[in-house]
Amino acid sequence: MEERNEKQLNFLEEIIEEGLKDGRYKTILTRFPPEPNGYLHIGHAKSICLNFGLAEKYGGKTNLRFDDTNPVKEDTEYVDSIQNDIRWLGFQWAGVHYASDYFDQLYEWACVLIKKGLAYVDDQSLEEIRQNRGTVTEPGKDSPYRNRSVEENLDLFERMKAGEFADGSRVLRAKIDMAHPNMQFRDPIMYRILHATHHRTGDKWCIYPMYDYAHGQSDSIEGITHSICTLEFDIHRPLYDWFIEQLGIFPSHQYEFARLNLDYTVMSKRKLLQLVKEGYVSGWDDPRMPTICGFRRRGYTPEAIRSFCDRIGVAKRDNVISYSLLEFALREHLNKVAPRRMAVLNPVRVVIDNYPDDKVEMLSAVNNPENEADGMREVPFCKELYIERDDFMENPPKKYFRLSPGNEVRLRYAYFVTCQSVEKDSEGNVTCIHCTYDPATRGGDSPDGRKVKGTIHWVSARHAVDAEVRLFDRLFAAESPDDVEEGHTFLENLNPDSLKVLENCKLEPCLAEEVRTGNIENGVESPRRFQFERLGYFCTDNDCKDGRMVFNRTCTLKDSWAKVNG
Ligand code: ATP
Ligand code: MG
Repeated sequence: MEERNEKQLNFLEEIIEEGLKDGRYKTILTRFPPEPNGYLHIGHAKSICLNFGLAEKYGGKTNLRFDDTNPVKEDTEYVDSIQNDIRWLGFQWAGVHYASDYFDQLYEWACVLIKKGLAYVDDQSLEEIRQNRGTVTEPGKDSPYRNRSVEENLDLFERMKAGEFADGSRVLRAKIDMAHPNMQFRDPIMYRILHATHHRTGDKWCIYPMYDYAHGQSDSIEGITHSICTLEFDIHRPLYDWFIEQLGIFPSHQYEFARLNLDYTVMSKRKLLQLVKEGYVSGWDDPRMPTICGFRRRGYTPEAIRSFCDRIGVAKRDNVISYSLLEFALREHLNKVAPRRMAVLNPVRVVIDNYPDDKVEMLSAVNNPENEADGMREVPFCKELYIERDDFMENPPKKYFRLSPGNEVRLRYAYFVTCQSVEKDSEGNVTCIHCTYDPATRGGDSPDGRKVKGTIHWVSARHAVDAEVRLFDRLFAAESPDDVEEGHTFLENLNPDSLKVLENCKLEPCLAEEVRTGNIENGVESPRRFQFERLGYFCTDNDCKDGRMVFNRTCTLKDSWAKVNG
């Protein structure tokens, strides 16, 4: 982890400050340019935090631009989810734009390049074009159509646009140099024919611009000062500059940074889509998915994701970040904001024999020791309780300080109790634990200074609400799920035990009401998050409906009480 202090600038900040100082620009304009062909993932969050964060820091602005130049894979469902996720992270764009808004302008500029003798219509098949491109060590071969006249090119290009030709029969290429050492300059394709309905332009177009021709020009149209993208685009930068130069338009510049890679995770949208389509997960927002909506459903906070992105900094070389760093940022934030509640996930009944049958006491509990403003709440206590099955052992080992026959423990916020006997079913499973309590220890302390080594949580059996709780583990069992030998797929690295459902959990009663009150965060419906004492952080799931209670475990506690208190 690269902890940056305030004064140390990352390389992008240095570039920006230099440009502001020498007057190259007065303010900065960045953009986040997702292709609406999938949901955003944590890697996109990195790019969002970077683009919006830099603009915020230097008083500039950020555009959201949908890079929608491939009609086949794009959809408005994705457009909506992307806006939702950026908003939820807490960022607001200056303008929302679509590369498809620029199709007319891009077409006109293509005609300008044709007229300058810098573009031509090629009738070779895509296969021929690929074969004639040469290799890094060998020059390519000129297309037999390379020297068409400007008039012929203009005519053919117009007819491509008019829909006269079949998909794949012709392309428009820039006329640069088939022997150029940078392969990107060997007459790159600018337009291809695709008779497909576009999510915004419908059937108006049947030719679509390629990334390299569309991206820089779109940046330029918007007046983007810093076009920030991931490292693999560095070889495209000279071409990005070439188009802008030849057209003599606003000089946007491209800068590259290392993409975020996380261990135990796949991040390619194609693979995430496959997981969804083939049913390996319940959807894009499955709490095990590395998508922003998946993290949201899992109980992550926008603050945690932003703090994570900030912590990992901006690198110029590819690396893999540990998932535990993300969880670290998450725990740090949840510890501050998540109200504490008591919940028993694997219940066993406790009866306090010397407690009055019908008595109910309301005991005070702290909502969050990290935040006094959260105040106190009342938790009902009565003769019958539930505790965790593994907080009791009939024949405990030496250092077991929780409940066992003859042993006294503290019930959190309540009383000291001592186990007297147990009831068992025919198979020998404990079905009920009988205890006695000491009325003088109300609130959890003994007036005679008597100490107990263990403190356990509980819920009142008569007041508890039933819930399903879902426990998640890593979606992939391998550190680099993408690293597979030939003939194998990343799917083989899926962790078969990544989801465990507990159906018989008992929760503190106030949670029933809290589940009914939603949580709108940055304008987006989000789960309510809690710390279940000693167990971890949990949140309400979308499946909470009509009184059904479903919680997701967001993450475990770093230091569980179980370890501290025995
Ligand atoms: P994928 O390969 O998963 O489909 P992509 O790069 O094609 O991702 P885009 O929608 O084109 O997805 O990405 C939008 C922006 O997010 C781009 O500027 C891209 O560089 C950035 N981005 C995508 N993945 C990452 C990542 N893992 N780390 C940082 N930035 C990323
Ligand atoms: Mg892309």
